[in-house]
Amino acid sequence: MKSEIEIYDTTLRDGSQGEGINFSVIDKLRIAEKLDAFGVHYIEGGWPGSNPKDIEFFAEARRKKFRNARLAAFGSTRRKGIAVEKDDQVRLLLEAETPVITIYGKTWLLHVKEVLRATPDENLGMIGDTIRFLKDNGRFVIYDAEHAFDGYKHDPEYALATWQAAEKAGADLIALCDTNGGSLPAEISAITAGARRNLIVKLGIHTHNDIGLGVANALAGLDAGAMHVQGTINGYGERTGNCNLTSVIPTLALKVGKRCLPDSALRKLKEVSQFVDEIANIRHDPRQPWVGEAAFAHKGGTHVNAVQKVVQSYEHIDPARIGNARRVLVSDLAGRSNIVMKAHELGFDLGNDTPELREILSRIKKLEHEGYEFEAAEGSLALVIRKILKHQEAPFKIEGFHVSIRRDRSIAVCQASVKVLVDGVTEHTIAEGDGPVNALDQALRNALVNFYPQLKKVRLADYKVRILDSTSGTSARTRVLIESTDGKEEWGTVGVHDNIIEASLQALSDSLEYRLMKK
Ligand SMILES: [Zn+2]
Repeated sequence: MKSEIEIYDTTLRDGSQGEGINFSVIDKLRIAEKLDAFGVHYIEGGWPGSNPKDIEFFAEARRKKFRNARLAAFGSTRRKGIAVEKDDQVRLLLEAETPVITIYGKTWLLHVKEVLRATPDENLGMIGDTIRFLKDNGRFVIYDAEHAFDGYKHDPEYALATWQAAEKAGADLIALCDTNGGSLPAEISAITAGARRNLIVKLGIHTHNDIGLGVANALAGLDAGAMHVQGTINGYGERTGNCNLTSVIPTLALKVGKRCLPDSALRKLKEVSQFVDEIANIRHDPRQPWVGEAAFAHKGGTHVNAVQKVVQSYEHIDPARIGNARRVLVSDLAGRSNIVMKAHELGFDLGNDTPELREILSRIKKLEHEGYEFEAAEGSLALVIRKILKHQEAPFKIEGFHVSIRRDRSIAVCQASVKVLVDGVTEHTIAEGDGPVNALDQALRNALVNFYPQLKKVRLADYKVRILDSTSGTSARTRVLIESTDGKEEWGTVGVHDNIIEASLQALSDSLEYRLMKK
């Protein structure tokens, strides 16, 4: 099935420019894989010319096979007064070895004159040269027309000249950007329609949410002739963020009636939204449209009563279509199909009629109630399912541990000892580390590698801590999310406890056990 509207995700580039968002390379790889499985058409991975982390991301991403998405590297047109083939930033774009390269260039004369300090003609040359050069190197080139709308409002003729320069140089797509996020839907609509009349090339729309209209403006652009929309999961991005794909995707599919992703992808929408929040270590916003916990929660008495009679009375769609669930009405149907879907992804043969399903569901619900979150912790989830489905016990058991921290003048030393039982043999190991978790990780691994050499390659890649709300009478609990890699795959595991060390050890132990489960 060919899509009518292409989804271009820039969570890893524009999204990572949001305040409080900081992705490691492993985070980015995991999000890219999730987005690919979700079905987006493009994943903008980063800006190799702006930071070494993004160069490393592209080097790592090269060994991945993406099934649905094409990877894009982002950068800018060549600098003023330099030949394009001599421009380091452009060279790094080619070295990212992505099939798609997206470059941005200036539409607005204010920027050309005051920011670039270039002449209008110089700017046209920079746009044309860069696109031609990237096309000559065999890339699919997307031209992001920065400040397209503000530029057009200021000088429509010049704005159009910049887009025509991009088209003439062979750009495969021109995305009109409302970079400052202050335009109104009617303006977006009129200017996109104007571009449509004067250009042959496919158009895209890239909006920001500075006045709360990011999604509305993207829809206006799509309505006026754009066939490609750029945005981020959960609307992450500079200032107040980008156009929120988590809203645009279901709105297009279920309200506007335009195809963008397969229906099966829609049912993963909430999960993808929560996954990205978990990786970013951000609390999922309960009031987020479509995917928030409160999006289909009914509180008012008359609402609850009406919804119990006719669900459409206070619901604009069936929440299960986007993987969300009605709250109040006790129906675990949505939860049930989500788990079945997730179990399949993890390689389990689990259907709606599997007798163990009920027990698995109630176990997961209980753990979630205790503060566990499995969206980004597929390793721990797989262990829960396996234990109930196959009655398999863990291949090792941690019988005890000890952690100590001491400081000699300015040097802090952490030491951990772990007692582990494997096949009836008790191993007792000691290790030092940079911190208590690192020391525990070392000690546990030292104990296990003699039995399981495949664990040698596993390393702890990222570690995130969240303090959960304390509920009446209990102390605050700590949730730890650990991301691990063996150089080929990345996975997440979770631990929850009143004590951060216990929570960390749970997540560490799950990580190694999950790797062993995968053989
Ligand atoms: Zn942007």
